[in-house]
Amino acid sequence: SQFADINLLMEDMLSLVERESGTDSIWIVRAFDDLMPMVKTDPPLLRQVFLNLLINAVQAMGKIGVIFVSTFCEKSMVCIEVRDTGPGIPPEDLKRVFNPFYTTKAPGEGTGLGLSVSLRIVNELRGDITVKSAPGEGAAFTVRIPIES
Ligand code: ADP
Ligand code: MG
Repeated sequence: SQFADINLLMEDMLSLVERESGTDSIWIVRAFDDLMPMVKTDPPLLRQVFLNLLINAVQAMGKIGVIFVSTFCEKSMVCIEVRDTGPGIPPEDLKRVFNPFYTTKAPGEGTGLGLSVSLRIVNELRGDITVKSAPGEGAAFTVRIPIES
């Protein structure tokens, strides 16, 4: 594995999403900690995780909304939060969103694999992904990985 700049990996994926969302009114608000340590990790895998979270946020919001992306450190972990202003996730579904093939999207729009694959990747890096949401208040996914992953 290599040493990676988390903010830069996220920025790569944000520019992808910004380019793709073209005419839509998707605002992205960054709150990056510029003292993030370099992390020993697998950059392509982490990019995939970030992209999955961002795509979910965009899809949840439809054509208009705000994505808040923050990075910060917590003890020996680096943390990345992706929060959106979409419809949120009902409490009874929060436990299911990481299950393989769980999707609320129309056939062809979602495979239900994004979050389960993301969780598997992050677990492999000895980290975790958590979700917080209330209906009508958007969803917030937080990735935590050890600095020495
Ligand atoms: P997919 O995107 O293919 O449906 P995911 O594993 O990425 O599969 O997500 C599973 C489900 O979790 C989604 O179908 C949706 O119901 C819910 N979900 C994920 N992210 C969000 C979000 N940001 N806001 C609301 N619901 C979400
Ligand atoms: Mg998805």
